[in-house]
Amino acid sequence: MHRPTSGDVIDLSSDTVTRPSHAMLDAMMSAETGDEQRDGDPSVTRLCSMVAERLGKEAAMFLPSGTMANQVAMLLHCRPGDEIIAAADSHITYSEGGGAAALAGAQLLLVDHRQGEIDAARIRAALRPHRPQSVRSRLLLIEQTFNRGGGAVWSLDALEAATDVAREAGLAIHLDGARLFNAEVASGVEAATYAKLVDTVWIDLTKGLGCPFGAVFAGSKAAIEEAWRYKIRLGGGMRQAGIMAAAGVYALKHNVARLAEDHARAKRLADMITGTTDLTIASPRIDTNIVHVDLRPVGITAGAFTDHLAEAGVCCSQVDTHTLRLVTHLDCDDRDIDIAAARIREAEAELCGSSRRPMKAEVAQP
Ligand SMILES: *Cc1c(COP(=O)(O)O)cnc(C)c1O
Repeated sequence: MHRPTSGDVIDLSSDTVTRPSHAMLDAMMSAETGDEQRDGDPSVTRLCSMVAERLGKEAAMFLPSGTMANQVAMLLHCRPGDEIIAAADSHITYSEGGGAAALAGAQLLLVDHRQGEIDAARIRAALRPHRPQSVRSRLLLIEQTFNRGGGAVWSLDALEAATDVAREAGLAIHLDGARLFNAEVASGVEAATYAKLVDTVWIDLTKGLGCPFGAVFAGSKAAIEEAWRYKIRLGGGMRQAGIMAAAGVYALKHNVARLAEDHARAKRLADMITGTTDLTIASPRIDTNIVHVDLRPVGITAGAFTDHLAEAGVCCSQVDTHTLRLVTHLDCDDRDIDIAAARIREAEAELCGSSRRPMKAEVAQP
């Protein structure tokens, strides 16, 4: 993607673009450390107990990335030839280098969903019969919040219904909770309440939580013990990782409740876009910090709009050929959102050459 090199660029391409704050860096600089793989690193141990407690799990393990957490989960739960039921567009299917097939040797059964939520009936219909000719249905993989569904939150009812079916069928259940705390803050349902319904779960420290590194994977004591072998096998065993873990400890204390601000800004951004342009919002609801903008009403491709917007100093990403993705985060404030909305309005006017309604809240360009 083209990124302007000067001017005040507002980067809404992802919530991963945040830089560690001074306070977070201070916490990292003063972290107590040890060898994670030998006697343990005290800061890593602390982070893992904090996450295990918040997720209501017995144990947790620190990993370099969320992608590795999903790979560990698939290796832990599946044997080659097993099948994983997941929503079409799940992160494991399009952003993890084909790891399900390449590493776990698992086959994916991708099912229809509503912004990530899979109906219990659909899961039941996806279960394979018990006979030697069939692939073995083994794992239900859930994503909360659902990234490609515009950060939508699974309702607790839907999650209970889906996990009930999977449990009855003897499937293991894994929760990709990259943005699980966004779901907690948006719904008021504790992360532990969602996590209780699944066997393994992880949270990403580098999305809304603003850390430079890492993910934390949680489950039963036995699951984490076994998962350690896969962490090592994938090259995820670290040494003085406490420097990174300290950022996570800091984030859990300071950056969870504030996710509500990101959610409010995403809604406000969406309102300003629909109020001042002919663009529409692609997802039926904006639950958290992700806004998908549908460009079809104005007939411009996402590539053209993204390039034009980047010239104007707003970075966004693309979901597909006609959908833009804008993500709010720790490093953008209300003023940035106002400016971004104004620049989007101008970009639309320039690209479409049509007259526009006035901005509700006109913001002076710096
Ligand atoms: C970002 C993300 C991942 C991967 O996490 P990384 O830390 O970037 O490897 C997995 N699942 C979802 C839903 C994500 O948003």
